Amino acid sequence: GGSGATQSDRQRARMRLSLQEHLWEFYQNNVNIPAEEQAVARRAALDICAELRVFLHAKLPDMPLREMYLSGSLYDDLQVVTADHAQLMVPLILEKNLWSSIPGEDTIMNVPGFWLVRRENLEYFPRNSSYWDRCMVGGYLSPKSVLEVFDKLVAGSINWPAIGSVLDYIIRPVVPSETLTLEVQYETDRKLYVDFLPLLVMEDGTSLIAKPHRLAAERHENLWRQSFRVAETARLRALDQEDGGCRCACLKLAKAVCKLNPALNRLNASQLTNTILLLCEKEGDWTQEALADRFLQLLRALVGHLEAGRLQCSLSPKVNLFCELTDPTRRRRPGSADTRSPTLLRSQWT
Ligand code: GDP
Repeated sequence: GGSGATQSDRQRARMRLSLQEHLWEFYQNNVNIPAEEQAVARRAALDICAELRVFLHAKLPDMPLREMYLSGSLYDDLQVVTADHAQLMVPLILEKNLWSSIPGEDTIMNVPGFWLVRRENLEYFPRNSSYWDRCMVGGYLSPKSVLEVFDKLVAGSINWPAIGSVLDYIIRPVVPSETLTLEVQYETDRKLYVDFLPLLVMEDGTSLIAKPHRLAAERHENLWRQSFRVAETARLRALDQEDGGCRCACLKLAKAVCKLNPALNRLNASQLTNTILLLCEKEGDWTQEALADRFLQLLRALVGHLEAGRLQCSLSPKVNLFCELTDPTRRRRPGSADTRSPTLLRSQWT
């Protein structure tokens, strides 16, 4: 009879249950951050942000900035393991008639998800008509040059020991650092890293951040990175709210696994979020009981996207969120002995 199948069904159900139990246990013990720890970290970030506002207003009153603000997973209850990082968003104000944005797919680089910001009307409004002309490189606003302006300020002219002693923190800029980062020791055994993230908000609401393209070819240097973070995070949360689902829990589990495993560090929140959002288009059951199944599916989907070298951004399908994993011109060349072939990538990730 069918008793064999029934038995293996039962066994599978038992295994699934135990994975489910393990996941929730891991979630409670390692992934979720106690509310108190989050609050103290937020407080420290806020103190630093307030000091920086005062400093910048006093020292550079004519720098066209909107108010800086804090953002990131620490503020969306999506941070995992330890409350240890936040972004300080620094929105630049650009004159509408002097700057225009060009989508990456319309440029020679052909990279959707990245943009060039071009200086316009130089003949009528010569160089230095705009404050940000000092960051212009080859007719474009250079995110690298913008970061350098803040780097000089933050690493060079702010007296961090003095500010730190007032606030009772130890603050120092992290050098060398790919981004501009402050290390804030706010308790003997607790550190917070605050990234400066200069940002442009274009007229249609498109957010561009000064975070360089990873394949740092010179021709990529002027590219601004489009950020989908606000919209994709809101989408995930809204879906969970509609059906009391476990999508955010699933995301946090995956983020924790990546945070705790150096080999997986490069997978970022946006890539994980989008993999889940794509999965949501196929899978309807996100009840708490389905967590283990969805989590396994997420891992399989990730491996699939990695193998393909392609992860579609759910909010902008032409954007490949894995476009920086390898250089596609090298990967696709037939017969080349490329050491970073998809197969090799797979063995790194599985
Ligand atoms: P986590 O760092 O994995 O906890 O995830 P977050 O959701 O906080 O993502 C932070 C990362 O996203 C940083 O590397 C940022 O550079 C990048 N990022 C892109 N757009 C944004 C944005 O609009 N806000 C913030 N805070 N980070 C952004």
